[in-house]
Amino acid sequence: MSKTKRAISFSGFESWRAHIKDSLIENTDVMFVPTMGALHEGHGDLIRAARKMADANGQAHVVVSIFINPTQFDDPSDFQSYPATPEQDVLLVERAGADAVVFPTVLEMYPQGVPDAADPVGFGALTDSLEGAKRKGHFDGVVAVVRNLMEQVGPRWAFFGEKDWQQLAVIKKLVAHEFEGVTIVPVPTRRELDGLAMSSRNRRLSGSHRARANALYQVLVQVAESTDPIAACPIAAAELESLGFTVEYLSVVNGDSLEPTWVPGKMRVFVAARLGGVRLIDNVACLM
Ligand code: AMP
Repeated sequence: MSKTKRAISFSGFESWRAHIKDSLIENTDVMFVPTMGALHEGHGDLIRAARKMADANGQAHVVVSIFINPTQFDDPSDFQSYPATPEQDVLLVERAGADAVVFPTVLEMYPQGVPDAADPVGFGALTDSLEGAKRKGHFDGVVAVVRNLMEQVGPRWAFFGEKDWQQLAVIKKLVAHEFEGVTIVPVPTRRELDGLAMSSRNRRLSGSHRARANALYQVLVQVAESTDPIAACPIAAAELESLGFTVEYLSVVNGDSLEPTWVPGKMRVFVAARLGGVRLIDNVACLM
């Protein structure tokens, strides 16, 4: 007999809420893992971390959501081509040990209709630097959808990946302001054997680009281990360009504030680069 735990798939929060009510578990703590689908073992790590904490907690319900959020894409073609693999996703969710996977409807996420742009957030450097500077309105869309997801799910814990470090910092601030009682649990970046951070977008890399893509992680480590990480950035960026990447940014900033303020032990290297039209991001901690 399979040891795989059976996650139950719901096409919307309404049916999920009816299920937890019928199962008499509506007052159970919820561990929440929001995603955009096309799941991989990085997402699996988030779900396993939630399962572990739920089991340690005695009674808790692990819920995964899958919703490709239109308002966080600044580039409509990126949204159109974002991979969707719902059947495989449900299998991965089950294998990783969640209790439920919800596919929210667009109406549940945007009852007034999908706006052209989400309301501006304005968390200073957290929303305006790096990803926020390159993808206008990106974090406005992220905050709009995470706020709504949190309201629908009412979690006690929510799990986010360090792969999207800046997003994690934005969500921590959102939750501190608006969702008292919710704890954000960061989960380390899961990498392929060659170091490339797992990402739903990796499957769009051609064979030759995939073979080169791990250079992104290698240069991050070079910069992070350098005695002068800031000076190392332009050299590392040139190295990536020579390998065919188009670098959008390669910067060392404080991982708490996303500002350049140097605080030993807090600095991180962040990169965004395109390879064959596929946009990849990653980050690591500086040693110093
Ligand atoms: P996404 O589906 O890309 O929106 O990601 C959903 C969640 O999974 C976010 O909290 C991401 O930071 C996290 N995530 C994505 N890739 C990884 C990875 N390689 N390792 C750990 N977490 C990840």
